[in-house]
Amino acid sequence: MKSAPFEHHEPDTVDEAVSLLESLDDPTILAGGQSLVPMLRFRLANPDVVVDINGIDSLDYLDEGDGHLRLGALARHADVEDSDLIDEKYGSFADAAPLVADPQIRNRGTVVGSVAQADPKGDWGSILLAHEGEVIATGPDGDRAIPADEFFLLPYDTTLGEQELITEIRVPEPAPTEGSAYHKLKRKTGDYAMAGVGVRLVFDDDGVIESAGIGMTAVDITNARATDAEEHLEGERPSPDLFATAGELAAEQSNPESDEHGGADYKERMVDVLTQRALSDAAERAGTVTVQRRVTQ
Ligand SMILES: Cc1cc2nc3c(=O)[nH]c(=O)nc-3n(C[C@H](O)[C@H](O)[C@H](O)COP(=O)(O)OP(=O)(O)OC[C@H]3O[C@@H](n4cnc5c(N)ncnc54)[C@H](O)[C@@H]3O)c2cc1C
Repeated sequence: MKSAPFEHHEPDTVDEAVSLLESLDDPTILAGGQSLVPMLRFRLANPDVVVDINGIDSLDYLDEGDGHLRLGALARHADVEDSDLIDEKYGSFADAAPLVADPQIRNRGTVVGSVAQADPKGDWGSILLAHEGEVIATGPDGDRAIPADEFFLLPYDTTLGEQELITEIRVPEPAPTEGSAYHKLKRKTGDYAMAGVGVRLVFDDDGVIESAGIGMTAVDITNARATDAEEHLEGERPSPDLFATAGELAAEQSNPESDEHGGADYKERMVDVLTQRALSDAAERAGTVTVQRRVTQ
């Protein structure tokens, strides 16, 4: 099926886009179109007006600045996958990018669009949560930074205002003794996650975990933090037992639903396993320790 007709606007600047969002009646933003276009074609979305941001060149960046890794609204999944900076310093991003959908979708789809879509099965929201990142929303009153913890409300619902667009997402640059990782279980290439876990660990100079962030994919109504597991890790030295208990706590805090891909019990068990694997990789990448995995399946 083709989409219903709509008015198509192509701003060249963020200011123009914001003016359009302010003046038009119920506009919908189009970025990579990898979620929106299928919804248009199935007529699950029927906007009268679309604001296409692909011509705003100033939003096409992936860089470091102001102490953050910054991804502009037009950074595609493939840009993350191809980035040397990501390979060198941001393990969780490097793990996740090649696991998102398939190459065609990764070439067009944007990381910011995925965060804006707020699908609980999306991978980037969990990583943003694990890194305690921020969403930069730009609207008629200028820019505001929304902490990832305050962004996701419900499936496909966020705290972004109707006249705002997301211009950037950002996470703090890693400390020298920091590591991160993302592990995802999916049935086959191209699928969304059945379960996924992103982890960021920051160690002090004595090898004690100073700060832990864990974000979970597809096992709650939004991307969600495993706060009980995070608290359990902080102030401790990494060990298989510590990570095993953290895995159990993350699984207990998850809230998956049974579906055609697997039962809720199975998904909870997978959260446990994926958490332990991601913790182990993050600790190793921080360069402080190598923790043998207790769970091998
Ligand atoms: C078959 C398939 C498999 C997929 N698998 C995965 C997967 O494994 N993991 C995963 O994370 N994702 C997956 N996706 C989703 C994919 O990553 C999309 O690219 C992403 O969800 C949306 O990004 P986009 O740039 O294509 O956004 P669009 O489709 O253009 O927009 C999506 C939504 O976000 C809004 N939006 C976009 N950009 C902005 C902005 N800057 N500010 C405010 N609102 C904005 C739009 O209005 C729309 O509501 C899959 C999609 C498909 C079709």
